[in-house]
Amino acid sequence: MEITGLHKSFGDLEVLRGIDLSVSPGEVVCVIGPSGSGKSTLLRCVNLLEEPTSGTVTVAGAEVTDPDVDIDRVRRRIGMVFQSFNLFPHLTALGNLTIAQRRVLGRGKAEAEETARHNLRRVGLTDKESAYPAQLSGGQQQRVAIARALSMDPRLMLFDEPTSALDPELVGDVLAVMRTLADEGMTMLVVTHEMSFAREVADRVVFMDGGVIVEEGAPEQVVVEPRHARTRAFLARVL
Ligand code: ADP
Ligand code: MG
Repeated sequence: MEITGLHKSFGDLEVLRGIDLSVSPGEVVCVIGPSGSGKSTLLRCVNLLEEPTSGTVTVAGAEVTDPDVDIDRVRRRIGMVFQSFNLFPHLTALGNLTIAQRRVLGRGKAEAEETARHNLRRVGLTDKESAYPAQLSGGQQQRVAIARALSMDPRLMLFDEPTSALDPELVGDVLAVMRTLADEGMTMLVVTHEMSFAREVADRVVFMDGGVIVEEGAPEQVVVEPRHARTRAFLARVL
């Protein structure tokens, strides 16, 4: 994934003020920063949930910001996991994992179910395929949402504060799944407030404030020995 010169304004409000960021295949990049700094907007520009005001975004060789791009095709390659799980309440876990595979990728029932079961196993929910979202804990629902994204065979996974809505005791299971994905070589861009996850799992940490990248580097550098006063002030609040 490569972002160059990305700007995004909502009316008079300039939320992203020139972002350059790349994520190499297999790399895990964590984005940290205060509320309102533009982290979600950045992620949403990557799959064109928001249309950038200017700049380019390229994912897996396709320029997302090219007006002629087949955006549905590009979106299929990008898995996105939000703070809210957005599962279909009337479908079982298995149903939530098969529906997009069948409708968007055109997979047959057997193949979609096989892929779904494989991914439920990856997130540790083999025994929950027949459960409806309401019968699952928040952490289990989020793991279903991750398995659903994985079932589309994404080239890039975007996570936007995936554990922020969870009770503290459920956070660890979701982070463990993300850690496993990272170990397996998934390319990931993760917005998180979980500093220990960022320190231990990220290849690179990016600190954003006010719509710009203030500093980026190895986790030990950015999280432990930040160069900028704004980064230090932020870390003092969250650590
Ligand atoms: P973060 O995820 O870092 O908390 P966001 O990207 O959600 O930050 O928001 C950055 C700024 O952009 C905030 O001031 C927010 O109010 C504003 N913003 C986000 N989305 C919209 C929108 N659709 N319309 C207007 N303003 C928005
Ligand atoms: Mg956000």
